[in-house]
Amino acid sequence: MKGKLVIFSAPSGSGKSTIINYLLQKNLNLKFSVSATSRPPRGTERDGVEYYFLTPQQFREKIEAGEFLEYEEVYKDRFYGTLKEPVEKMLDEGINVVFDVDVVGGCNIKKYYGNRALSIFIQPPSVEELRRRLESRGTDAPEVIADRVAKAEFELGFAGKFDVVIINDDLQKAQDEAYRVLSDYLNKKDSL
Ligand code: ADP
Ligand code: 5GP
Repeated sequence: MKGKLVIFSAPSGSGKSTIINYLLQKNLNLKFSVSATSRPPRGTERDGVEYYFLTPQQFREKIEAGEFLEYEEVYKDRFYGTLKEPVEKMLDEGINVVFDVDVVGGCNIKKYYGNRALSIFIQPPSVEELRRRLESRGTDAPEVIADRVAKAEFELGFAGKFDVVIINDDLQKAQDEAYRVLSDYLNKKDSL
């Protein structure tokens, strides 16, 4: 049987990566879809693990070669995209693939795969709390944080387009809820 897709989207700082990393340690036959990006590595990020780090030129070449399932210029001059080939390979091997993508990319992947995909929106308690989390994460310059917070209101408007919305106020509760929603979905014979 082919694998299923689980898509996580949210404004930056909502807690997607934290929740995804928690789920990857569970016994859910999940693997992370490593995206390509033209932004530089942050903190301890390694090429091929969190992202494939490309130059803008390399990114453009892959766009022209039709290698992306989807891609977006999420922030100015910062491209992010999902490569088709590794995703299809994992699905063919029966592995469930988890995505951390922006709200537009998330809606596009859901539209493409329909019932084979579950889309989850991680909602922060407020934009102010989002700012606090980005500041305390300590990985981004003030102007980068300002860009991300400025985009958050727009992104929060997408919540209703997702199959499930999980509010990440208390992290343990959000992780438990995400685990329950995923296990239900992945154990269902017919998706959704
Ligand atoms: P994203 O992947 O959505 O950008 P992260 O998972 O990197 O977000 O989380 C942003 C920061 O907020 C991290 O420092 C993380 O440890 C912290 N964080 C995540 N969830 C919570 C929460 N419920 N309460 C407080 N801090 C949180
Ligand atoms: P970050 O720079 O914090 O890792 O990611 C910034 C934003 O880009 C997040 O909203 C993240 O979900 C999104 N993103 C990461 N990979 C992809 C991708 O492959 N496609 C799209 N559309 N967005 C992505």
